[in-house]
Amino acid sequence: MAEAIEIDGSSPVAVALIEALGPQSVLLDDDVTGRAAGIWRSDTIKARVLVRPRSTEEVSTAMAICHAHDQPVIAHGGLTGLVESALTSPQDVVISLERMNQIEEVNPLERTMVVQSGVPLQVIQDEAEEHGLMFPLDLGARGSCTIGGNISTNAGGNRVIRYGMTRDMVLGLEVVLADGTVIDAMNRMIKNNAGYDLKQFFIGSEGTLGIVTRAVLRCREAVSDYPTLLAAVASFSDLTAFLKHMDAGLSGNLSAFEVMWNNYYQLVTTEPATNQAPLDSSYPYYVLVEAMGADDATVEAVMMTALEKELIPDAVLAQSGQQRQQIWALRDDVEQTMRFGPTFVFDVSLRIPFMEAYVEAVNEGLESHFDEVRNFTFGHMGDGNLHFVIAVGDGSAEARKVVENCVYGPLEEIRGSVSAEHGVGLEKKPYLSIARSEEEVALMRTIKQALDPKGLLNPGKIFDA
Ligand SMILES: Cc1cc2nc3c(=O)[nH]c(=O)nc-3n(C[C@H](O)[C@H](O)[C@H](O)COP(=O)(O)OP(=O)(O)OC[C@H]3O[C@@H](n4cnc5c(N)ncnc54)[C@H](O)[C@@H]3O)c2cc1C
Repeated sequence: MAEAIEIDGSSPVAVALIEALGPQSVLLDDDVTGRAAGIWRSDTIKARVLVRPRSTEEVSTAMAICHAHDQPVIAHGGLTGLVESALTSPQDVVISLERMNQIEEVNPLERTMVVQSGVPLQVIQDEAEEHGLMFPLDLGARGSCTIGGNISTNAGGNRVIRYGMTRDMVLGLEVVLADGTVIDAMNRMIKNNAGYDLKQFFIGSEGTLGIVTRAVLRCREAVSDYPTLLAAVASFSDLTAFLKHMDAGLSGNLSAFEVMWNNYYQLVTTEPATNQAPLDSSYPYYVLVEAMGADDATVEAVMMTALEKELIPDAVLAQSGQQRQQIWALRDDVEQTMRFGPTFVFDVSLRIPFMEAYVEAVNEGLESHFDEVRNFTFGHMGDGNLHFVIAVGDGSAEARKVVENCVYGPLEEIRGSVSAEHGVGLEKKPYLSIARSEEEVALMRTIKQALDPKGLLNPGKIFDA
């Protein structure tokens, strides 16, 4: 482990970085500490040196210099991560991928795109569309997050039920290791079973094993129709039956099954929120169902059968692109949850049969500790992924601990996970053992030791090396 020395513009490592890459590529002091530490954070970056490489070669040079100086390095993408995995200290150097923002190639025949890792997700989605393609990854932070951050967190999002997580959309990767070695794993084929699939080590490793510099992405043919409906649901058992009904009836076209508990739906359809409520707000659950590539008539027929079978009491099918956006706006208006003072955000994974009792256990736990509890509950229920935004107490570290115990404690016996899609970072590090066995964590340490023996890449995140 490197010695903890505060780094600034006069430090030998900073001088070497400026000499090798030029002053335009290395920001110092206020130019770094003036930046926000994250999208929903009120603090600023603690590191005082930030490198902005323009190419893989420059990333490699920067890493080799840092390696020679035993210098810890934290990679920064769009800083939309929600688990404190990009936080820095004055001892760190930041490598920001913000200037590696080029789309190098789109191949409509092979349905691939070659990108640098600093390209924002939305730019990739738009570029795919211009070529008659679609890049299926989609999440609320699409305008700010980068593909390098998506890869490093193995982001999930709205369409996992159909297309999988980020790791399912990456064919190849280029990564710079801690010592500056460039690993060219820019595979462009769908199938390649020749030995270990090394790119998977880096996908979801939160910048602890290497800096992702380029990627080959797997796109799909563009889809012209996005039928979307909002349904009210009267009970949790009806919710699971409705999921099965829609999945079976849509013959593989189900692309989102996003559930909002009543308190979330009420919040996003009541002033000061500006969304209209398409359905009466008295039902316990609401589901957004999207069926990319299906036609409206099929979706309507499957929806009508669900109404006839009384799986759902009410539903509305979007009749235009604008109505579709209005339904999605309900699900995406997560920022409304921030209006009740300090909040704690959670992203847990569990088997659907345990979900109803689990949510009850979490709420009972919270109510036994706090007088006033707001637990806005929603998520990618079709993937077994729930989000809670919990507003209780004063936001103190003590309150956080109590809330974390209420949320993570009941996961242990049902073998759920403390992270469905956001990652671990610093925030969930104390709870890693709930989701991973001792043997798994030991193997993670072995891999970290093999790839980064000096422990320079994002030290202290996920687990202690
Ligand atoms: C409104 C909102 C909605 C969201 N919805 C979802 C969602 O539905 N699903 C989901 O999964 N997440 C979601 N997130 C979380 C977040 O957007 C994702 O984690 C995203 O993938 C992070 O990308 P980023 O570029 O912002 O990465 P950053 O926050 O900059 O970094 C995240 C981690 O990746 C590392 N990293 C970044 N770039 C690189 C690189 N090039 N090489 C190596 N390591 C790197 C960092 O060191 C850090 O550990 C949401 C966030 C917000 C604010």
